[in-house]
Amino acid sequence: MTEWLLNGRAFLLSLLVIFILGYAAQNTLSLRYIDAVRTEERALVTERLGNVRYQLESLITNNLSLINGVAAFVSSYPDFTPAQFQTYAQTVLSREPSLVNLALAPNLVVSQIYPLAGNEAALGLNYLQNADQRDAVLRVVESGEMVIAGPLQLVQGGFAFVGRAPIYVTAANGEKQLWGIVSAPILAENIYRDAGLLDDDQEIRIAIRGRNGLGNQGDFFFGDQEIVNNPRLVSMPVNIGGGSWEIVAIPTQDMLAGNPLVTVVRVFTTIAVLAILIMLGLARRQVDRDKAFKQIIFRNEKFLRAVETVSHVGGWRMNSKLMFTELSDQARSILDLPAGDEMVSLQAFCSAFDESSAEVMRNQFVNAIKFGERFDTEMCMHLLDGSTQWLHLKAEVLDTASKDRELMGAIQDVSLAKKAESLIEYQANYDALTGLPNRALFRDRLDTALLAAQRHSTKLAVMFIDVDNFKSVNDNLGHDAGDALLIEVSQRIQDCIRETDTVARYSGDEFVVIIGDINSTSVVGRIANDMSEMMNEPFHPTERQVYCTVSIGISLFPDDADDVETLIIKADQAMYEVKKDGRNGWQFYTAQMKIESEYRHHLYNELLNALNENQLQVYFQPIIDVSTGSISECEALVRWQKQDGQWVSPEEFISVAEERGIINRIDFLVLQSACESIQKLNKTLITDLRLSVNVSSRLLHLRDLVAQDWLAHIRTLQGLKLTVEITERILVEDAQSARRILDELHQLGVNISIDDFGTGYSGLSYFSQFPVSSMKIDRSFINKIGVSATEEALIESMVLMAGKLNLRVVAEGVETAEQLAFLSKLGCSFVQGYYLAKPMPYEELVEFAKVNIINGKSLAEDLSSAS
Ligand code: C2E
Ligand code: MG
Ligand code: MG
Repeated sequence: MTEWLLNGRAFLLSLLVIFILGYAAQNTLSLRYIDAVRTEERALVTERLGNVRYQLESLITNNLSLINGVAAFVSSYPDFTPAQFQTYAQTVLSREPSLVNLALAPNLVVSQIYPLAGNEAALGLNYLQNADQRDAVLRVVESGEMVIAGPLQLVQGGFAFVGRAPIYVTAANGEKQLWGIVSAPILAENIYRDAGLLDDDQEIRIAIRGRNGLGNQGDFFFGDQEIVNNPRLVSMPVNIGGGSWEIVAIPTQDMLAGNPLVTVVRVFTTIAVLAILIMLGLARRQVDRDKAFKQIIFRNEKFLRAVETVSHVGGWRMNSKLMFTELSDQARSILDLPAGDEMVSLQAFCSAFDESSAEVMRNQFVNAIKFGERFDTEMCMHLLDGSTQWLHLKAEVLDTASKDRELMGAIQDVSLAKKAESLIEYQANYDALTGLPNRALFRDRLDTALLAAQRHSTKLAVMFIDVDNFKSVNDNLGHDAGDALLIEVSQRIQDCIRETDTVARYSGDEFVVIIGDINSTSVVGRIANDMSEMMNEPFHPTERQVYCTVSIGISLFPDDADDVETLIIKADQAMYEVKKDGRNGWQFYTAQMKIESEYRHHLYNELLNALNENQLQVYFQPIIDVSTGSISECEALVRWQKQDGQWVSPEEFISVAEERGIINRIDFLVLQSACESIQKLNKTLITDLRLSVNVSSRLLHLRDLVAQDWLAHIRTLQGLKLTVEITERILVEDAQSARRILDELHQLGVNISIDDFGTGYSGLSYFSQFPVSSMKIDRSFINKIGVSATEEALIESMVLMAGKLNLRVVAEGVETAEQLAFLSKLGCSFVQGYYLAKPMPYEELVEFAKVNIINGKSLAEDLSSAS
């Protein structure tokens, strides 16, 4: 109810009602008080006035009775003598000093006055002829009663009432007969004084009206007539014989005036109302505050609940009796307890866990309460249903000094985080595809295995296994098939080793194996052999079966190295040797490999130097059109003569440059230089020779800045016919990225030629996928001409195929006339080889071209003679 009152409009209404009630109460109280005061005041005035009236009536009655006495005297002795009258009057006047004189007026004419002295003027006054007195006198006569008139101004000064009484005498016939009147002025001053009207300490102000005894009809003759208008007036009649006066009075002082009580009542009620209003206002403010506070608490609670839900953190509070006095909803939900507010025992708190887990948990709390120790721990709890739950429990001790200590803390279900943690750990250490340890974990394991081997003085082997031609499986059968193949390979590797050995996926198609605790190297050889043989079985990455081999390199601890890094490098080098020897096999690392490796490293440094110092040159080898015998094209071939004059074969340094990633620089340099030379030559000799440049697979696959410069340079070429020679490997290894560049080259009018055709990969599908325009049959076929009928047949079919595919055919490495003749007979259009021209520097090329073109010396003659 109070709440309702303090709310909104009701509050304003209640303020108004209280204000009105307060005002009414204040008025009622003060009016009642004023009434009471006025009643008291009236009583006082009435009492005082009553006294005065009584006095007045007594005094007048007294005087009148004396006058009446005179009348009675005359009635009784109508024949009195003036002396008798004087004696009688003297007696009367001596008894009543207010009486001024006594005058007798037989037949209404004044005939005797006592005392006479000073009143002589009145003798002989005929009342009926005196305007001032006639009415009053007639009233006396008519009424037959004594009448008081006045007050009148006395001739001798002062004011006086005149009391007149008729005097009757009994006539001879026995009838009552008016004799005349007796009149006596009564000194008003005396009457006033004796009645107390002149007292100074009067509590009332009095006025009297009724001049000539006319009651309230007569004029005021005493006091301030203004008081008659005062609402506090009290009036009463004064009987004065044959007439009356009205005596009125008001209190001299207002009993309310200067009386603080009314003000006190008003002030008090006002203060009371104000106090109530203020209290209400304060209460309202308090209610508002409470409301705001409640809202904050509500919001905070809601916020905390939301935070709890989001973070899966619950709160709790435990007393010294091991009871959870508070347990948040989230905490209850984590512990699978029903929601509610009631306290929870430690037993119930642990009810979801199996006995051993519950005991560990209980001990945690019991000890914390017992020893006042905070805790912050993660616990793996086994639930009754057999699953596990990771809980993070935190507790703070609230009062360490007292025995009645309490614990307050948080409980968090961190199972998901733990799962994520272990997943992250797994992902950081294991390969997602094969489930094998990854490179990082492999290094760790190898490190540990090395320490163990060192400690126990045992041997250890590292195998580096690379899947042969994996790229072609990936490209031809798709990545899913590639993945499936890798999984199968990893399983076959695992099948060949002991469980204690480690196999890891090192990178894409590379696996590494640690074989520990070996007593002879032949064991490792046997394992490697088993692996090779196992791989010879067909794989089934798709419905189609696939054949796939591996190359395995092996390094040994402590023979080859005693650290992780070197052991891996050496196994890799051994594997590289296997690859070089035609793949599908295994090999131990040898000292020779080391020498070769060091030589290559040395060569690399020298090559880098040569490149920086511009020591590389470009030679040109003419390609001859068989039909005309004239030069149609030149192949640019890089040459390196060391400062000591020794020539390094391109076969040798180009593989090093490819390995170390500087081949793009060489290709770019050759392109720039060769273009410049051939453009110059064409200009000088007014010819249109085509230039053919070699590019490494890296240039098409490694999108470095140099590769971009290379491409940009080709875009700027104008009027120069260009062929780019690539090996089949490029098209197989990373078909997608090669395709983009080859397409652009094709757009730019550049011919794409397949170099060393026949030595690479079996698939021929790239002819339909890429914009290839010519093929160069590898030297290894050409030099079998006249030696092997099979090779000859192969050459023939290659030329036939090229014809069908509309490709230009160039035969490389033509060294003899016989070879030239054979090729010419087959219809091979272009030839290149020592027999026709060796690679030569630019200056020689110019001379050769001059002879060939300008001098018109035609090879056609040679050709015809050769055939
Ligand atoms: P290639 O592109 O197949 O070049 C033809 C190779 O055969 C050249 O060897 C050439 O000198 C040699 N040759 C030509 N006619 C005969 C012959 O009648 N008998 C014999 N025995 N050999 C002949 P070279 O110049 O030693 O180059 C070897 C390989 O190095 C080249 O094979 C090419 O793959 C690569 N190469 C050369 N220059 C460059 C280059 O500037 N960039 C790239 N990426 N590779 C290059
Ligand atoms: Mg070539
Ligand atoms: Mg070649």
